[in-house]
Amino acid sequence: MKFEIITIFPDFFRGPLEYGIVRRARESGRVEITVHDLRAFTKDKHRTVDDRPFGGGEGMVLKPEPIFDCLEFLRVSARTERIRNQGSGAGSPRARESVVLLSPQGEMFNQRVASEMARLERVFLICGRYEGVDERVREYLADREVSVGDFVLSGGELPAAIIVDAVTRLLPGALGNAASARTESFGAGEVSVRLPVDTEGKRIPDSTISAGGLLDYPHYTRPADFRGLAVPEPLVSGDHEAIRRWRRRKALEKTLRNRPELLERVELNPEDRQIVEEIRKASGFGLRAPAKAD
Ligand code: SAM
Repeated sequence: MKFEIITIFPDFFRGPLEYGIVRRARESGRVEITVHDLRAFTKDKHRTVDDRPFGGGEGMVLKPEPIFDCLEFLRVSARTERIRNQGSGAGSPRARESVVLLSPQGEMFNQRVASEMARLERVFLICGRYEGVDERVREYLADREVSVGDFVLSGGELPAAIIVDAVTRLLPGALGNAASARTESFGAGEVSVRLPVDTEGKRIPDSTISAGGLLDYPHYTRPADFRGLAVPEPLVSGDHEAIRRWRRRKALEKTLRNRPELLERVELNPEDRQIVEEIRKASGFGLRAPAKAD
């Protein structure tokens, strides 16, 4: 897939997208990232990208012309024109591309939105600055307005880097071990992973349980005893079923403590529900009752 980032600070991306999984995904051709300097699409000698807001008020606003010109250069027309010319059926170019305006006023970026983007061929990320972007970009150019959290950053560059990172790790083959995506927080359930089976096709107890919408379980590594702080016993027992049960309990515990609302969307089996009850009684975590799975 391809990301096209539109920014007034192209150098910003020299570091963040050149490490680890994103770097390897770029090198292997799984993802292509092109950064476009908005100033290259201006027409005046000062390469002006911003102007004062109509109606008065604080700060400057990014002008619409360079952004429209940049996207037209990338063969993306206004949204209504795209809908008219290309349709929105599954096979149409429009269905395979998305123009995203980064904004604190947008819909919240999360693992579900990341999975949706990972299925596309091209994602355009428009980075705002100053007081924001002329609203006509949102109205006539962007397919969606996306926020990375309920806080205001100075620009859309960090959000763009976050989106590229989160989406890239969902691309087939981007993670060295596909099972990591299965066990991660929020359960990147879109990634299909075959569970281990024995010679008769029965599932082998799998100690790397799926997060399935919960937060991830805690991880430990060597040494087993660090300054007198020991790794929990089940993890060093070699008993896969005990490890699985311990991890599930800890994932439930952490979700109840930090993000109880996530439990309302998770399918809990009877064993999970019993664990939740035990945790609640012991600690008083999570005041809301989790939804019943059956
Ligand atoms: N005046 C805007 C408001 O109050 O909603 C804030 C503008 S902000 C200082 C400048 C740019 O940073 C935005 O246009 C957007 O591109 C980016 N930005 C800031 N916070 C963001 C967030 N939480 N998610 C996505 N983009 C954000």
